[in-house]
Amino acid sequence: EKSGRLIIVAYRLPFKIISENDQVQLFQNSGGLVSAVLSLVHEQEGSPFNSEEKIQWVGFSENTPEELEGQSLANDSFQAHPVFIPTEVNENYYEGFCNNLIWPLCHYFPSLAKFDDAYFESYQIANKLFFDKVAEIIQPDDVVWVQDYQLMLLPDMIRQQFPQNKIGFFFHIPFPSFELFRMLPVKWRKAIIDGILGADVVGFHTNDYVEYFLKAARMVSGYGNKLHYINMSNRIVKVDSFPISIDYKKFNSAFDEPAVKKEREQVRASLKEKIIFSVDRLDYSKGILHRLHGFQRFLEVYPDWHEKVSFVMVVVPSRDSIEQYQQMKSDIDQTVGRINANFGNINWQPIIYQYRSMPYDELLGMYTASDVALITPVRDGMNLVCKEYVASRKDKKGVLILSEMAGAAAELGEALIINPLDDQDIADAIKRAFEMPEEEQTKRMNAMQTRIREYDVFAWTNDFFTQMIMLEQEHERLR
Ligand code: UDP
Repeated sequence: EKSGRLIIVAYRLPFKIISENDQVQLFQNSGGLVSAVLSLVHEQEGSPFNSEEKIQWVGFSENTPEELEGQSLANDSFQAHPVFIPTEVNENYYEGFCNNLIWPLCHYFPSLAKFDDAYFESYQIANKLFFDKVAEIIQPDDVVWVQDYQLMLLPDMIRQQFPQNKIGFFFHIPFPSFELFRMLPVKWRKAIIDGILGADVVGFHTNDYVEYFLKAARMVSGYGNKLHYINMSNRIVKVDSFPISIDYKKFNSAFDEPAVKKEREQVRASLKEKIIFSVDRLDYSKGILHRLHGFQRFLEVYPDWHEKVSFVMVVVPSRDSIEQYQQMKSDIDQTVGRINANFGNINWQPIIYQYRSMPYDELLGMYTASDVALITPVRDGMNLVCKEYVASRKDKKGVLILSEMAGAAAELGEALIINPLDDQDIADAIKRAFEMPEEEQTKRMNAMQTRIREYDVFAWTNDFFTQMIMLEQEHERLR
């Protein structure tokens, strides 16, 4: 009886489309959302759609319509429906409204937020372009799952035209406290809240984000709620937390893969006795400079550790066409240079800094070789790197130092939790991690691993759609 399909709508398609000489090749992305959605491909029961059907995916295409004309854009799992956005619109929409306004505001950097009427206009136009594509392909029983802050107006656009379809919405970044949200012009705030509330189920990573959203819905549009249910005039919206997760088994079993083992042995052989590791995209929300200041403090106050520690810091290039990001990159370069110059010597380079992306085997080699993962975002919706680090430690060794400002901190209380703005806090946590007995490392790892294993990425998608089905039953009960 489940005849409908799943339609994912996200800014990005699940693969890169390379078109050469009228030939199109598809390269599947490896991001968190793609692997989460892939978990649905084989699922049989418990989903509100027909899992025999390919997942339909609506997303922005960097290619032109001409390049893709007449080409099949499907692989075994996904059927892609590209949305074409004119370059000027995309600039004001994606770089502008999304990354110059919503991103900084939601990550508590209001001073970096730029307000521009042209941004919002383009945001509306782009959301409408996604809507047009959805309207073109949608069938009566399809379930639509809209992703993230690039598409906040879309759920209600779909609701207006297709009131019978089930619609989900997931917000992947922090939803800010109302004092930040209210910095948006009144009209924009209202459009965003009403847009999101077009969905049946609205998901966030943590309970805090849920509370902030419910408060915004009340303040902006006057919607009250009862136990996370918002009663609209003719339907109910469920707002809840669904902490996104990882493929635990994949990361845990990587420990024994020969290629990972080889990387691990190489790392251990070439570095000092204690290894600290961090990896993140270049972004001001990641607290990279704060991490460096904390490490510098560690070297200042605990000189006994000189020449015994290597801090491998990998920064993955991102958004580096934006001036702010270039400036940050240059601050990081200088700070690393200064610390290495002040503390290093011919036998010892305290920080081994790399600005590049890391292939999987190398990443897992680093995760499993490191005594400490030092993860210090000043704000992060979830942070998957810390979950991957924990999952990869099949040996139950290693210490996670984690910022209290990461969404993941709500689930990983056995990490050494720090305030990334406090250099001394970071320095003391590093010392404590280095001195932590192995039994204590194992005890903490065990507790965190159990939690991630039980709520892995498959549980995440399952949880979301279970809520959708339960809401349906609730509707029937009230009818
Ligand atoms: N990652 C990557 N390329 C790299 C190194 C890491 O794609 O060179 C992955 C990493 O394994 C993780 C993701 O990028 O799955 C980062 O997710 P997270 O939630 O920590 O941060 P985001 O970049 O989404 O803000």
